[in-house]
Amino acid sequence: MEEHSETMEFTHTQKQRLVELGADDFISMRFKSKDERNKKFEEIVKKVVADTKRNLEIIRRISKRPYLKIIEDEISKKLRKNGFIEVSTPILIRKEALQKMGIDDEHPLMNQIFWVDGNTCLRPMLAPNLYTLWSRLRNIWKPPISIFEVGPCFRRESKGTHHTQEFTMLNIAELSPEKSAEERLVEIAKLVMDVVGVEYELVWEESEVYGESLDVVVNGIEVASGAFGPHKLDENWNITEPWAGIGFGLERLVLACEGGANITRFSRSLMYLDGWRLDIK
Ligand code: ATP
Ligand code: MG
Repeated sequence: MEEHSETMEFTHTQKQRLVELGADDFISMRFKSKDERNKKFEEIVKKVVADTKRNLEIIRRISKRPYLKIIEDEISKKLRKNGFIEVSTPILIRKEALQKMGIDDEHPLMNQIFWVDGNTCLRPMLAPNLYTLWSRLRNIWKPPISIFEVGPCFRRESKGTHHTQEFTMLNIAELSPEKSAEERLVEIAKLVMDVVGVEYELVWEESEVYGESLDVVVNGIEVASGAFGPHKLDENWNITEPWAGIGFGLERLVLACEGGANITRFSRSLMYLDGWRLDIK
């Protein structure tokens, strides 16, 4: 029977390998026979390996760094051109910083925290640090206080293909915008997405931390969440001014733009270089 109808799929191991190699477009192919299937598998792998080698050669000779780093640079340049100041804050933060964000023992994010010791953890987000900088810089600089940071964040994740435990967050935060905070939030999202140059949707959602949040969605994938204030958390930093803030996951953004099946390809890795698998010959 199987020999005559196109019901045969790639084996589990073959599918796994195709996903690893980023050849996910082929995994739902059907075949009339084992021979036909195995021949096709070899053919795809050969082609993908050749593509991988060609792309690794381009990285070696031309781009010399991952795409994620290149867009990070371009976004940083664009933000600085638009008056934003780049900052660099600690990766290790204290439990109080989480509490000030409303993340208490009952909050779902609390189960996702990597603790270094009882009171210190790897930051799951940049927001508490940026709030603290706002509260200091606003005493020194005239408004608006426009800052951004790009850096590692950590969350224990059990979810699959769009989550990693360590990822790169780009958080842009403006205190006292010159226009309505809501309008400014949409404008900041556009600043970033114009650099990336892909179509995106803006979706308003309920957020655990902020109440109402604005998601930036590319090809059905959330690449950023933004919010605006005044907001009830603001009092923890004695902030009373309006604000707009948005956090992009850069690996998620690259995944959504490149259309891959798994974020692992674009994450910090010993097995991939800029999305290209290294266990090939
Ligand atoms: P999700 O609903 O997809 O789990 P989230 O809403 O919990 O994400 P936010 O707190 O809104 O995430 O973080 C802002 C952005 O950071 C997300 O839009 C996403 O791009 C990125 N991000 C968050 N968690 C992860 C993760 N575990 N791996 C990769 N990127 C992440
Ligand atoms: Mg979100």
